[in-house]
Amino acid sequence: MPGTSGPSRHRQRRERAAAALGAQGCAALVVGPGSDLAYLTGYRIFATERLTALVLAADGTATLVLPGLEGPRAEAAAPDLTRREWAETDDPYALVAALVGGAGDIAIGDQLWSAFLLRLQDALAGRRFRPASDVTRALRMRKEPEELAALREVGASADRAFSRIRELEFSGRTEQELAADIAAALRAEGHDEVTFTIVASGPNGASPHHHTGDRRIARGDAVVLDFGGTRGWYCSDITRTVVVGEPDSELVRVHDLVRRAQEAGYGAARDGARACDVDAAARTVITEGGYGDRFIHRLGHGIGLDGHEHPYLVSSNEERLERGMAFSIEPGIYLPGRFGVRIEDIAAVGADGSAQPFNVADRGLTRVR
Ligand code: ZN
Ligand code: ZN
Ligand code: ZN
Repeated sequence: MPGTSGPSRHRQRRERAAAALGAQGCAALVVGPGSDLAYLTGYRIFATERLTALVLAADGTATLVLPGLEGPRAEAAAPDLTRREWAETDDPYALVAALVGGAGDIAIGDQLWSAFLLRLQDALAGRRFRPASDVTRALRMRKEPEELAALREVGASADRAFSRIRELEFSGRTEQELAADIAAALRAEGHDEVTFTIVASGPNGASPHHHTGDRRIARGDAVVLDFGGTRGWYCSDITRTVVVGEPDSELVRVHDLVRRAQEAGYGAARDGARACDVDAAARTVITEGGYGDRFIHRLGHGIGLDGHEHPYLVSSNEERLERGMAFSIEPGIYLPGRFGVRIEDIAAVGADGSAQPFNVADRGLTRVR
């Protein structure tokens, strides 16, 4: 809803979630600390051994069950929300069970620890549990204008960070040293938090989620840089592949292929397109270029409050893209023992039905020192 903020925005989201619960035959939604809770209430809290849970009944009644000591924090974040605070010796599971009421399934938070779910299953014996994402994914996939603005802003911040990073000295330094510089650049350009900084140099680039280590970067190395964090709670995620000095001819050829695959992904990611067809459009370019078996992951993932969320651009997903959906487009080619190349942007399906990039930093094979 344009122009709404704070409590009323969260109340509207809870109303939509409650309607979805009813439509899907669910009695209630129970979510713990994490992005579903933040999305529905604005309340953010780390998970601990003490149960915190929002219970949203299909009739729209919303209650936050929480340890009494967190009362002030919850009141400040979500003053409009009814709270049921439990004392250290109370049974919070009985509290949740009493609030669930009615017949029907219970939609349980995907990010709720199993330690809590197992106790809830005892307290609600005989009830059927389903993933909360059955209910929340349809809401969270369709971004509100404010959410798209937040993603655009955090994306621009990541782009500015890359402008700083490409000026850094790479040769002779370790991956960890570069990662520290990337984190500093993200913060300097407006990120509130840095979530990950992958620096995968030379042969390490062949592992898509390489754990940044103490390898010293050398001249001629391709270096995959994949980094992101949050600003205003929304996530960034960008990958660029750079080369230290002059690239060899295969690196140039592979990088060009990945770039063309990404462009094909952009071309296919239109309003109404199936997620699997977008993956296929990019994959076909790489397969025809002779590296099909070296593109070893899906093309992309949704992004928002979570760094990876629905919709997933993967060959098994026949879901159709819609205006307002945001996701990564990140083809890659990985050559074991040699190097890897990946190019990743965040994009969203815009008002004209085409995919608009939130990352516009130079996608070429950038030469670094
Ligand atoms: Zn990844
Ligand atoms: Zn990434
Ligand atoms: Zn990604």
